[in-house]
Amino acid sequence: MPPETPDIIPEPPAFYDEGALVGVLTTQPLGKPLDYRAPEGGAWAGAFVEVPLGPRKVAGVIWGPGKGDYDLSKVRSVIRVLDAPPMRDEMRAFIEKAAAYTLTPLPAMLRLATRAPGLGDPPSMRKVYRRGDGEPPRMTDARARVLDAAEEMGGLALTLKELADAAGVTPQVVKGLVKTGAILEEESPRDTPFPHLDPDLPGKPLTEDQAAAAETLRAGQRSGRYGTTLLKGVTGSGKTEVYLEAVSECLRQGRQALVLLPEIALTAEFLTRVEARFGAKPAEWHSGVTMTERRRVWRMVAEGRAQMVIGARSALFLPFRDLGLIVVDEEHDTSYKQEDGVLYNARDMAVLRASILDARVVLASATPSLETWANADAGKYDRLDLSSRFGPAILPEMRTIDMRDHDLPSNRWVSPSLARAVRDRLAKGEQSMLFLNRRGYAPVTLCRACGQQIACEHCDARMVEHRFLKRLVCHQCGESRPIPTKCPSCEVEDKLAAVGPGVERMAEEAAALFPDARVAVLSSDLFGTARELKAQIEAIAAGGADIIIGTQLVAKGHNFPLLTLVGVIDADLGLQGSDLRAAERTFQLMRQVAGRAGRAEKPGLALLQTFQPEHPVIRAILGGDEEAFWRAEAAERRATGMPPYGRLAGIILSGPDAAPVFDIGMALARNDGPLRRVGAQVFGPAPAPIARVRGRHRVRLLVKAPKGVALQSALAEWVAPVRLKGDLRLAIDIDPQSFF
Ligand code: ADP
Ligand code: ZN
Repeated sequence: MPPETPDIIPEPPAFYDEGALVGVLTTQPLGKPLDYRAPEGGAWAGAFVEVPLGPRKVAGVIWGPGKGDYDLSKVRSVIRVLDAPPMRDEMRAFIEKAAAYTLTPLPAMLRLATRAPGLGDPPSMRKVYRRGDGEPPRMTDARARVLDAAEEMGGLALTLKELADAAGVTPQVVKGLVKTGAILEEESPRDTPFPHLDPDLPGKPLTEDQAAAAETLRAGQRSGRYGTTLLKGVTGSGKTEVYLEAVSECLRQGRQALVLLPEIALTAEFLTRVEARFGAKPAEWHSGVTMTERRRVWRMVAEGRAQMVIGARSALFLPFRDLGLIVVDEEHDTSYKQEDGVLYNARDMAVLRASILDARVVLASATPSLETWANADAGKYDRLDLSSRFGPAILPEMRTIDMRDHDLPSNRWVSPSLARAVRDRLAKGEQSMLFLNRRGYAPVTLCRACGQQIACEHCDARMVEHRFLKRLVCHQCGESRPIPTKCPSCEVEDKLAAVGPGVERMAEEAAALFPDARVAVLSSDLFGTARELKAQIEAIAAGGADIIIGTQLVAKGHNFPLLTLVGVIDADLGLQGSDLRAAERTFQLMRQVAGRAGRAEKPGLALLQTFQPEHPVIRAILGGDEEAFWRAEAAERRATGMPPYGRLAGIILSGPDAAPVFDIGMALARNDGPLRRVGAQVFGPAPAPIARVRGRHRVRLLVKAPKGVALQSALAEWVAPVRLKGDLRLAIDIDPQSFF
């Protein structure tokens, strides 16, 4: 028996003999690992186990040696070791560091890493079919096709449906062949490995620029050491082609690669490209993946039998056996920041995870976040630039339309100049896009009798009319109700008026202006499933619409080869308000949207409708000198000590009643000693910009600190005395992206 003294920390990987004291972390909200005794047969550190917790049995992970701080006579035994690959040391280190950085309790972090159903279940079986030795006594055409299809697979087995489909026969034909012994029916584990990706298949011949960038990434990959590279290139410059070369080098090293995409609707096109490059499709991990498939991906990733995963931010928490490369595509995208539950930024966590693993990171974007730009500027990240579009495609020309020159009626938003440009495209059979970053029909519904705007009952937010759904919807809590005919306040009939445009209303205007055009609206709320959305995008890309009306959904990397005109309905929209990143976001979004036009042979044009064409951000968008924009923005942030040159943390307090929430905020503001000691300042409390969501009152504090101070530990010490009674909640948002 090894010594049971808990202060001797064994070198990993540690094995704990039966009866040894181990610390088990569960996903139950208990904060830390609890002591148990290792089960019969012992267990490895990292093993997934089942333990008794009060009257229940829960799953957990052996996190390390036990602490011995609990009455030894009461320590219970681990019930059993689950049939799942143990969690690796570096994964535990990642979870701990990510938890410490985001000030998230360990159990909540562990939950992110174990989001696969039936983790502990024994492998489930299913029937598969392959070619046997026998020949059927009676051969038919259908039978011959089945045998051919099976032979083509070599020794590989298929499911009944796969084999029948491959041969173009009914399942009965296959079953008939099983009776003759010509086809073998076997039980096989459901969680099958992913098909092999071949890194040595030839890629596309690269341009000189692309080849140089690819070689730099490959060399970095070969170094086997941690490093992050910003791959900056205009949309269509071939960033994807280039980083796929880093993937191929990673696969050649026998390591696994992860590609994060901001939008699952983008995955279809990407999967096809991976298949063309490596001969098979990679594993997928996102909200559109079925539970069975999730389980398979989780296991195969852990066993090293999935070489490549493409996924949403949560794929970062998969148990890779040997992860060598993480690509974060469209790294500036705000969807990488998880805004509820565990508040983390997948881009930053990717860098953290890679640094633990000696893996590489590629951050790809046409319009990088200021954080990433500054890290490259400071030499912390490498930077590669692709400056021109591939092939004949050139960057769209960008112009403003000064809306002060147009006296549009109050229910019209398309200026005559923009309308002319659209008509011109219609005549040539090319596509136009009208971009407006507002879902629904109208952002405000106003009663013309009493002047009231219809608001959500649970939130401090206006209800947004969605005419397709025939409902008013709260974009904060999702609550909806039928569009009323009389005002909820003054009860006068038929005086409700829609004020302002949303994409649905733009569709109405487009139909009136261009009666013969086929108009398609792309907005996340209009599609039940990711699959429907994908299908719609593909249909549009193939020419299924003349005018595309979209929210920011359309800005994210979709390829519309026929699109040559982008009209931005309201370029000023993002510049309103006091968001720290308003300029950066508008710049990114406008460049990104404009980049949709002219991706094939035909040149593109982007027209920005604005009431303030002389605004510095609008001028920067048009001017094309991106570096000048980043430098100016960086100088401003540096002068004010704002991120990335200073640090912020948001504190969000919430509860069913306003007063106690505010009281906690006041107490925190008064007792700011731990913050002041590290040179941090606290602002607030103030009611959050959206002061009530789902019936909960919200109060915010903002902490601002110089870069380089131990902000997390100061925050932890500062909030430690807070006692949250009843239904009060406190959330800490490190490096906040939104301030609602
Ligand atoms: P980005 O990721 O920078 O937007 P992509 O990698 O998607 O750019 O490239 C844009 C388009 O140009 C794609 O259709 C891609 O297949 C094509 N392309 C880029 N580079 C090459 C190349 N060297 N050879 C052939 N096609 C290329
Ligand atoms: Zn609401």
